[in-house]
Amino acid sequence: MSLCEVCYLREASARCRLCGRQVCRDCLLEDGRCVVCAETICELCGERHALATCTVCGRRVCEMCSVQLDPVTRVCRECLARGARIDKRPRRELVLFVERFMREQGAR
Ligand SMILES: [Zn+2]
Ligand SMILES: [Zn+2]
Ligand SMILES: [Zn+2]
Ligand SMILES: [Zn+2]
Repeated sequence: MSLCEVCYLREASARCRLCGRQVCRDCLLEDGRCVVCAETICELCGERHALATCTVCGRRVCEMCSVQLDPVTRVCRECLARGARIDKRPRRELVLFVERFMREQGAR
């Protein structure tokens, strides 16, 4: 038997489908992710590792699901789609960002 690679307390009974860690029942979520992945994975796509937090909604997002507006402002695609208001940013500039972002998404 092998120990859970997350808590090291209980016997591993499954494998996380994202990171491949052997985990116990308590450390595995219903969708097959371990609790570690659940904490580090993008909350929008649920596939890629999150590298930042949306400045507007505060969710963890990956590079593909967010846009860097300036060195300190990163916004997720859902907030962009809603036309989120970014303080300090001229509205028109944001709209341009959104339009470019949508074009890039559509081109993929
Ligand atoms: Zn565990
Ligand atoms: Zn995992
Ligand atoms: Zn994502
Ligand atoms: Zn957001």
